[in-house]
This record gives sequence, structure tokens and C-alpha cells, in this order.
Amino acid sequence: MLPGTKVASSQKCPQQEVIDENPGSTRLKSIALDPLENLHISFLKWTMNVHKYTSNATVWGDCGRYPLGVVLSKLVFKYKERLHEMDSEGSNALVRHAYCEQKQLNLTWHRTLTAAKSRLETVETRRIYWPSQIRSGIKSWFERIWNIERLSNRKLKFYNSIKHEFKEELYLRLGLDNGISKRIAQLRSSSHNFNVETGRYGVNRLKPSNRVCKHCCTKDEATLELLLELPFSKPIIEDEKHVLLTCPLYDDLRQQLLPTTRNLLEKDIGSIFENSVTIRDIGSFILKIFERRFLTKNDSG
Ligand SMILES: [Zn+2]
Repeated sequence: MLPGTKVASSQKCPQQEVIDENPGSTRLKSIALDPLENLHISFLKWTMNVHKYTSNATVWGDCGRYPLGVVLSKLVFKYKERLHEMDSEGSNALVRHAYCEQKQLNLTWHRTLTAAKSRLETVETRRIYWPSQIRSGIKSWFERIWNIERLSNRKLKFYNSIKHEFKEELYLRLGLDNGISKRIAQLRSSSHNFNVETGRYGVNRLKPSNRVCKHCCTKDEATLELLLELPFSKPIIEDEKHVLLTCPLYDDLRQQLLPTTRNLLEKDIGSIFENSVTIRDIGSFILKIFERRFLTKNDSG
């Protein structure tokens, strides 16, 4: 995303997003469209062993990685500052003449970077002098929109209940078995095949019966539909909390958990992921849940 490259001139980059006065609600999506960031996030998903449709917000959030455009912003602004200095010093270098010409033509890259700095100064109500201050400001901006957009995403209800800040998650640093790490990431980000997710799609996506736990409800579709039509009926949805906390299909596995993990499961699931012992414990539990629920049906996802 260096000045003058195709990426900087043709795509919306984080620096561009900073200057948008009235950005829409899909700013994260816009960042992911950047070809460089698209490659970056595909790589992160590959390392997490999750599929390509996994929410980008959960991937950035759990890896604690900022988009490359944000990380590289210090270098970009440093380079622009160096060019500006060469211009002030009256350097005879060819690059200085190219810079002056592009500045005069007000090319996109120059306009974007200048406006981004100015916008940041307005938002932070102070003058910004150093490239490192710009990167720090863009990082804060990214965290703000990451937080706003993921909290307003209904599909990330479980993730939002356990994720409290933008940082790399401990479970990704423990060197866990690939299968365990993958299942933890899938459950946290709701990129799995439990009915709460699969029921979101298809012609029957609006029917609650599409998302219920088949183990806890009657398997007779017609009876189930009738029961759900009764006043005050509450469907037992097969979501993350149901499988972790209450579904009797996994009672024996739940009994094998450490007392600390069981206690946190009921009080604060997010805290389980703050400690290496409870992470390993819950990781094995989640892996066994997936195996029991899916492997025999060959639809593990
Ligand atoms: Zn159940």
C-alpha cells in the first residue's frame, strides 16, 4: 500500500476510511476488499484452520492483528515525510521531482494521506507530528470500528459475550493440537454446523424449528411445529451456550471438566480463555462435542 502503487490508488485503504465523514456500517468489509488485506486475512484464517466464510472481525480480533494497511501506515507516512523534506531542501533527486509533480496533480495517494492526517488531527483534537502518532491514531480508529461493528452483528452474539477487548487470544499461543485449536476458533466465531448457524440459511430459515436442538426436542417435525405455535413455547436452540452448558447429550463429557472450568462455564465463559489450564480443559471438551455431534454424520464442517 505504498504511494503510487495500484492498491493505494484504486482501493479504499484504512487511511482513506479515516477521512470518511459519514462512513457506512460496512467499513470492516471495505477494508477486507483491499487485495493485500484479502491475502492477509486469508493467511490468518489458514493459520487458525477456519473456513473462508468465518467472520473477519473475529479473525482480526482473536489474532490481535491489525490490517496490513494499518501496520504499514507508519512506513507510508515516514516515506511521504522524507519526500517532503527532500522538496524543502531543494534536492535534485529524480524522486523529488516526481513527488512535486504528483503533489501538484493532487493524485489520489497524496490526497488520501494528507486528508487522513488532517482528519486524525480533528478526531484527536491535537496536532500530529510523527508517523508513529499517525499509526497509533489509525490503530485506535480501527479498534473503535471493530468494536462497533462486531457488537452490532447478531451473528456474533456468542463471540461478543466472551470477547471483551482487541488482543491476541491465549489459545492461539499455547501450541495446542490443531484439531483442538480449530474447534475452539470455530465455536468462538460461530463458524460451525450447529443448528443455530445452519438454520440461518435455506427456505426454512425463518422457522425456529430449523434451529432447535434435535436431541432435546421431538424429532417429529409436524409435532414440533405444533408445539412451537403454542403460547409461551420457547424453542431450545442448539447454540454455543446450549451445547456447552446444558445439552444432556454431552453430560458425561461435562462431568469430566475440572471444577474450575465447570464453575467458570456457569459464571463467565470468557474467563475460561484467559488461563492456559482451563483453555486446554475446555478445548478437549469442545473437540469431543464436535466429534460426538458431527463425525458419525460426516458433516463436521
Ligand atoms: Zn440439546
